[in-house]
Amino acid sequence: MNILVTGGAGFIGSHLVDRLSALGHEVSILDNLSTGKKENVNPRAHFYEMDIADESISQVFEKQNPVMVFHLAAQIDVRKSVEEPLYDARSNIMGTINLLTKSILYGVRKFIFSSSGGVIYGETPEPAKEETPAKPISPYGVAKLAGEGYINCFAEWKALDFTILRYANVYGPRQDPKGEAGVVSIFMGQIAHGEKSILFGDGKLERDYIFIDDVVQANIACIERGSLGTYNIGTGIATSVEILYGKICEVINKQNEKTYLPKRAGELDRNILNIKRAARKLNWKPTINLKEGLLRTYEWFKQQ
Ligand code: NAD
Repeated sequence: MNILVTGGAGFIGSHLVDRLSALGHEVSILDNLSTGKKENVNPRAHFYEMDIADESISQVFEKQNPVMVFHLAAQIDVRKSVEEPLYDARSNIMGTINLLTKSILYGVRKFIFSSSGGVIYGETPEPAKEETPAKPISPYGVAKLAGEGYINCFAEWKALDFTILRYANVYGPRQDPKGEAGVVSIFMGQIAHGEKSILFGDGKLERDYIFIDDVVQANIACIERGSLGTYNIGTGIATSVEILYGKICEVINKQNEKTYLPKRAGELDRNILNIKRAARKLNWKPTINLKEGLLRTYEWFKQQ
């Protein structure tokens, strides 16, 4: 099948491209390399260095004729979205609208969108279900929610099939420390190099960490399933910063100096996803526990 992956030079997108390609699909990538890297690009894929918000992306649709679009390209730095909301909106809102418009114009059958459970729900005293009211507190979260709104709306008018995946904090090989869930790669670098680590929120902030391969598998499940639905993709397990830090120390078998600071403005105390709907409808569940995921991430890290 001809498949277009936006953001295919980035962390999650490049793993997805590798998998789709291994499954025998003809994959094209659209990426402006703002955070993505040329070395992540699968040599079997057709690579287009373009911005998703540009009119010129029509050429890619004309030439490659994709049947399915996995839309992962995004400005993912929450702090940058606060400092430059217009810049964030250009990629995350305008870019998404541009892709949807072209997908409909060129007869794409299904649009699979990478959204974020980490920023859409806000605080989650209980693991958030998909129907939990959205309360984004950053322009990045607002833009992701807007993207979801446009997809639902375009699908209603123009009969475009879609699946929306709301990821928890994704980690694994190729992750850049600056991203949404960059804390794993930040700690790994600091501990390995003997630099000091800061545990914000006094180490008590809780997140849901999901390994990259499980996220790729959730996307693959959407080729056949999940029509017109929104699904949380996480583990449902709360891990505090303190526990995460300790597990990374164990995996590396090293200790470094650490300090505790109060949480930063806008940081959530707890963000965990309820994943029962994805288990039922996508026939998907996470398979790699935190220890195993960290070990695999460290194996990659050592080779850099
Ligand atoms: P990433 O920064 O590694 O990948 C994003 C890719 O998009 C990069 O290759 C970048 O160059 C490209 N890009 C950005 N703006 C673009 C534009 N205007 N035009 C073309 N290409 C553009 O980030 P990632 O962690 O792989 O995230 C992938 C997707 O998953 C994003 O949509 C992100 O919002 C979503 N997500 C990620 C996480 C996480 O924990 N990493 C959690 C929730 C949701």
